[in-house]
Amino acid sequence: MLNFVNFEQCCLCNACSSICPVNAIEYNLEYKSFYYPQINIDKCIKCNQCRYVCPAIQDTVRILKNNFPVSYAARTNDCDALFNSTSGGIFFEAAKYVIENSGYVCGAVFDDDFHVKHTVTQDINVIKAMRGSKYAQSATTAAFRKVKELLAEEKPILFCGCPCQIAGLQSYLKTVPEHLILIDFVCHGIPSDKMLQKYIDLQEQTMKSKVVSFMFRNKKFGWHNSCVNIQFENGKEYVKPIIYDAYMKGFLQNIVLKESCYTCRYKKLKSGSDITLGDLWGAEIEFPNIDDNTGLSGVVINTEKGKKLFDCLKIEKYPCTFDQIEKYNKNLSEPSKKNERRDAFFSLAEKTCYENAIKKMLQEKHINILKRNLRSLLRQMYYRIIGQKF
Ligand SMILES: Cc1cc2nc3c(=O)[nH]c(=O)nc-3n(C[C@H](O)[C@H](O)[C@H](O)COP(=O)(O)OP(=O)(O)OC[C@H]3O[C@@H](n4cnc5c(N)ncnc54)[C@H](O)[C@@H]3O)c2cc1C
Ligand code: SF4
Ligand code: SF4
Ligand code: SF4
Repeated sequence: MLNFVNFEQCCLCNACSSICPVNAIEYNLEYKSFYYPQINIDKCIKCNQCRYVCPAIQDTVRILKNNFPVSYAARTNDCDALFNSTSGGIFFEAAKYVIENSGYVCGAVFDDDFHVKHTVTQDINVIKAMRGSKYAQSATTAAFRKVKELLAEEKPILFCGCPCQIAGLQSYLKTVPEHLILIDFVCHGIPSDKMLQKYIDLQEQTMKSKVVSFMFRNKKFGWHNSCVNIQFENGKEYVKPIIYDAYMKGFLQNIVLKESCYTCRYKKLKSGSDITLGDLWGAEIEFPNIDDNTGLSGVVINTEKGKKLFDCLKIEKYPCTFDQIEKYNKNLSEPSKKNERRDAFFSLAEKTCYENAIKKMLQEKHINILKRNLRSLLRQMYYRIIGQKF
């Protein structure tokens, strides 16, 4: 580990590896399934830039100017974009606007082996692949460097990522020019790439086929009933509500998040982003006339630059209060609380293997699946008997 941070502080923003002039920083120190930066002393020229760039040990956390934040409930009018985005498709609309104005967009995509990485593009098809939350740590070093290089062209650039990545990028760039727009999201925390790979291995063993497509939050059964949806080479499909899926249970129950997520410094809009997006949870209560279960974003505008971009988007927008967004989305202001089973999960994973820990501690037991299916069958029969649609 770099000697100026610990596992609780390092958010893996990749600012240090991006700035290192001799590529001496390697991510090869494993802790609770994440790989942390270490210095290769044979390459290091002791310039200390990695220390000065690290946002985890800096005091600077942004305070919003007067008149901000400004909040909205919003969604795109484009049905395909809405279906394929996690909440209201606002990222897609903003990204489309930027490339239509000759700009670039940097966001997270899967590579061919389902590792998540940030990439920079002007291609609408790559922006389509950026849609959808990928709940696994994204690698940003190459993308940070590319953004820095492209800023010289003075064209608009939109970067979208976790709040800690926004902080890391700003620190790496030192100054944020007017043509760089930063969008982050309400962040629950993030599992590791290793966890995702182990989960994919398990799925491939069960289905006896390779995964060809992976959506963490598919809306086939509605936004409120999001499902993990995995397609396999042999044509089979895995669909499971996120509350029952093993990977999402590890994520939602705060068992497999990155150590720094439990003390995240970027809550309460402190990352420095221009716009913060989130699922507008509680929409069925706060906005019953707008919510139709297709997805709605809570949009929090933090700066004049963010407002300028948002005003240009031709989408459905409904002014609301910050409190209406925060009320059902506590991760806007508080870090997720560590689950007491976290240590047991990782000690089992290390003693045996990750696949075993996932099976034993996160996978739904057969008896519970049976009980759940039985309950659903009985409910259907009951509604059929009383002659109502369920
Ligand atoms: C790890 C994670 C945790 C989240 N936690 C919450 C939460 O607690 N509450 C809440 O309301 N919303 C949360 N969100 C955000 C939410 O899921 C939506 O992404 C957000 O509402 C924007 O929705 P959208 O429909 O506009 O765009 P989407 O299409 O969902 O957003 C796509 C954008 O998200 C970025 N992105 C996707 N995966 C990653 C990743 N692994 N790392 C960095 N950037 C990524 C892409 O670059 C793209 O720009 C989280 C997202 C992620 C990735
Ligand atoms: S710059 Fe980012 S990745 Fe590097 S040590 Fe600091 S927090 Fe960790
Ligand atoms: S001190 Fe300089 S050369 Fe050494 S790892 Fe840090 S940034 Fe790289
Ligand atoms: S919770 Fe904080 S530290 Fe964790 S990924 Fe999100 S922004 Fe980064």
